[in-house]
Amino acid sequence: MNLINSILVKLLTLLPKWMVKPFASPYVAGVTADKAVETIKSLNKRGYVATVDILGEHVATEKESYEIRDEYLNLYDRIKGLDANISLKPTHLGMEIDPVLAENNLVNILEKAKENNNFMRIDMENSPYTDATIDIYKKCLNKYDKVGMVLQSYLKRTAQDISNLDSEKFNCRICKGIYRESEEIAYHNKVKIHEQFFSDVKAILSGKGYAAIATHDIPLINKIEEWIIENKIPFDRFEFQVLYGVPMGNRLVELLEKGYKVRNYVPFGEAWFDYSIRRLKENPNIMWYVLGNMFKK
Ligand SMILES: Cc1cc2nc3c(=O)[nH]c(=O)nc-3n(C[C@H](O)[C@H](O)[C@H](O)COP(=O)(O)OP(=O)(O)OC[C@H]3O[C@@H](n4cnc5c(N)ncnc54)[C@H](O)[C@@H]3O)c2cc1C
Repeated sequence: MNLINSILVKLLTLLPKWMVKPFASPYVAGVTADKAVETIKSLNKRGYVATVDILGEHVATEKESYEIRDEYLNLYDRIKGLDANISLKPTHLGMEIDPVLAENNLVNILEKAKENNNFMRIDMENSPYTDATIDIYKKCLNKYDKVGMVLQSYLKRTAQDISNLDSEKFNCRICKGIYRESEEIAYHNKVKIHEQFFSDVKAILSGKGYAAIATHDIPLINKIEEWIIENKIPFDRFEFQVLYGVPMGNRLVELLEKGYKVRNYVPFGEAWFDYSIRRLKENPNIMWYVLGNMFKK
């Protein structure tokens, strides 16, 4: 089955985009900000909060980085009144061209977040950018409290980063990590990464920080929830986060019913194709789920 799934995903990459769209649609809100706003409204109605991201990374020119910055500035106004904030990638704002360019763009966006009393999260990309991203995060934190970052449990350095960054202002999304990293700096064993994630969540919550627990690994969510209950961690110290469209059975509804905050990461934009193919590669079973829905219709 795995081989058939992989072949089907490979075939999808060769098809025209309009044919792939039905398979992409569970994962992305659409191409425009209007579609993202519609999706967030529907999530809010069902009790979820959201974080919205303009798809794309690694812009090639300064001009492009300014265009993306301006799109994010507008987006803060578009999500006024909704229970949603923004997540963004440093290389989408020019980090690969010049870290100072990315920093200036991020600070501009942060000022807008402050003006709108909203929050901004800086996503974490691959390891060449880890130090520069942490550095920019610290600079942002000196300007405005409502800013967060991301750490990846597969990186061997993460436990130390958590310890270095711990403070009442530390707002950290913890995730397993999505990029290919060398064994020198990253764990490759799935069981080890799962354990490390659990240990990182405990470290953040045993310290002073806020944890955004970003995983679809249901046994891991169960283990974390048990620990949170045992240790009487207040509900305002953490939230659960998932990528929009990843099937989670009834687990998210259960979390909501228990009063936990659950945030959906809602991506949108022109770059929907590459993003969706990456998601399908991670979980080819989604194709069967989409096909099933198409036939039911
Ligand atoms: C809200 C959010 C924000 C993230 N931000 C970052 C970031 O800034 N930097 C970074 O490096 N990584 C980020 N990630 C990705 C993360 O690092 C993992 O690569 C991804 O979540 C898969 O790990 P998992 O914990 O869900 O567990 P896994 O063990 O990989 O997956 C558990 C189950 O969920 C399914 N699943 C997991 N992910 C997907 C998917 N994308 N599509 C379809 N099915 C899936 C799997 O097939 C499996 O059944 C983010 C993830 C989330 C949820």
